[in-house]
Parts: sequence; C-alpha cells; structure tokens
Amino acid sequence: MSRKYNFSAGPGMLPLEVLKQAQAELIDWNNSGMSVMEMSHRGKDYMSIAAEAETDLRDVMSIPDNYKVLFLQGGASSQFSAIPMNLLRGKDSADYINTGAWSKKAIAEASKFCDVNLVATGEDSHFTSIPDPESWNLNADAAYVHYTPNETIGGVEFHTLPEVGDIPLVADMSSTILSRPIDVSKFGLIYAGAQKNIGPAGLTLVIVRDDLIGGCIDGTPAMMDYAIQAKADSMYNTPPTYSWYLAGLVFKWLKEKGGLEGMAKINKRKSDKLYAAIDNSDFYKNPVDLNCRSWMNIPFTLGNSDLDGDFLGQAAEQGLVTLKGHRSVGGMRASIYNAMPEEGVDALIAFMAEFEAKYG
Ligand code: PMP
Repeated sequence: MSRKYNFSAGPGMLPLEVLKQAQAELIDWNNSGMSVMEMSHRGKDYMSIAAEAETDLRDVMSIPDNYKVLFLQGGASSQFSAIPMNLLRGKDSADYINTGAWSKKAIAEASKFCDVNLVATGEDSHFTSIPDPESWNLNADAAYVHYTPNETIGGVEFHTLPEVGDIPLVADMSSTILSRPIDVSKFGLIYAGAQKNIGPAGLTLVIVRDDLIGGCIDGTPAMMDYAIQAKADSMYNTPPTYSWYLAGLVFKWLKEKGGLEGMAKINKRKSDKLYAAIDNSDFYKNPVDLNCRSWMNIPFTLGNSDLDGDFLGQAAEQGLVTLKGHRSVGGMRASIYNAMPEEGVDALIAFMAEFEAKYG
C-alpha cells in the first residue's frame, strides 16, 4: 500500500488509524453481523454509535450543556441560508464580515432573507488581510454577526475572536474546526462541513445555543429548522449515518492525540515550518499578512508561474498531490488539516527546496 500526502482543501485526508479501524469494522461492526452502513438509524446499535460520537465531540470541544449539537446534511452551504432563516427572529438585518470567497457566498445567500450590513471587507487588500477591528461598522441591532474564521481559498485566518458584545456570533468553521481549542460559550452558533477536519463529506455539524433555537421564519423547510432537528436528535429523517460514525472515530482519534491542545501544538508547528520555508526563499511567496495566516490552508506562488505545471507534476511523482491552488487565486495551496502527518509537511518542504535549487 502506498498512501499519498494529499494536500486537498477538502475532502481532505483522514487519519490512517481511523481508516484502518473503519476497514476492520466495515463488514461486521462489533459482532452485530452487519456494516454500520446497513444499520437502521433507529436501532440500538446505531443509536449508541451516534450518541457516543456526540459525547466525544462535546468532550473534545468542551461544549457547554446549553448548546445543541446537530448532525445534519446539505453541507456548510445549506447553512448559509438556514442561519438567516433560524436566527433573524423578527429582526431584519444581520452583520457580516467579508474576508474572502466563503464569506461572500454566505453574504449572497443571507441577502435573500435580510438586509446584510457589511461590517468590514478585506476587498481592498485582495483579501490578504483582515480589516482592523477599530474600523468595523457593527450594528447594535443586528440579529447576529457572521464571520468566516478561516478562509479556505485565500488562507486568511482570525487568530483572535471578533468582539461583538451581546450580539450572537456565528462562525463558519468549515476549515478550522477542531484545529485548536476554542471557547464555545463565546459563540451563538458554529457550523462546519465535515470533509476537512471532521470526517467524510455528507455530514454538517451545527453547534447552536439553546436560546437561539425556535422562531424561524415562515416557510423554513423542516430539514432546516433547528428546533425540529434538535427535537428529533438530528434524526428527523435518515441522517448521514456512515459519515456520523466515521466522525465519531475521528473524535476518539483526537482524544488519543491529546485533544485540541495537542492538535494546536502540532498544527502550529506544521504551519510555522511551511511559512518559514516560503518566507526564507526568494522563489516562493505567500501574500497573506503575518497576523492572519492560516494554519490550515497555505497558498503560495512560484517565482515563475510558467513552472506551475512542472512543480505539480514533479511533486506528484513524489507522492505529494492536490497542491494546485484554487482557480481564483492560482499558484499552489497546501491544505494541512489535522490528519496531514507532520512528515507530509516535511516532505513538501524538502521537495520545494529541491525544486527551487533546480529552477530558482
Ligand atoms: N465554508 C468554507 C469556509 C469552506 O471551505 C467550504 C468548502 N470548501 C464551504 C463553506 C462549503 O462547504 P460545503 O461544500 O460543505 O457546502
């Protein structure tokens, strides 16, 4: 078997230990005589798998009791509309911070439901920086403040929490959840598509404070109504059972790795060394301000973009794959989520030095 180092922005790598466990249990889970994929979601076995995953996630993230954890479908993109539908609660305006491509998508969707007050935008810097909080234009009467803690495409990440007073803070954590400890009590709602740091695609996590549940706008589809989903323990319909199970294995893996404190140390070390390799060369460049560089998604360009194809081809020969940058940014992007081993980052750095020596 030869596993590659897969730098994809998502779906991304899963921990090998998790894949092996899933493989061992694939055909017969715990002497049940069936695969998790074949189980009724309402049966005793599956209910225990689902409940244990939630307990482990609550444990790993220290989620307070007054928050519900929902295991939904539809990706983070459906939350772009579910959030205004559920959280406007009689108000007609919501605050959005625009730090790049994913913020923009959230804003476009919210605009269908309410006035969007643009608190700040990184547009002037081509989304390579986060506007100074001193310049933010928060609306005291906003239903909530939405932001994207980590912009997967631009590689811009907040390393401090936005100060928004009593207005519920809503975070699209798709590409940074579980990368470090966070204080969940500071948020009204956290959501994330699973396919980066949680598990396989098809599962979407929503962690929402109890007092924000209920009172969605008329016409909200039942599937998107947090009150209905919370009451049904995320089983209003058939949930994405296998993704939920696999996410549960990932949560256990995180615990074994020292939890989110342990993950944060490794993630900081991995990203520090890759940024150092970029900054210490005259050939590679990362355009993002030093104070908001992502730990998870690291875009970089080569001194000569005509060499992009050679770089990608030669990297792939060494088992370093999916390094092509997003089409809107060009160049390269290394996504180094929790499951990317440190050796993968080391191998990339060694390859980059070798390539620079040859062509730089
Ligand atoms: N938000 C962010 C920050 C993302 O990175 C992505 C996916 N790359 C999405 C939202 C959309 O997620 P999904 O594909 O689960 O709808």
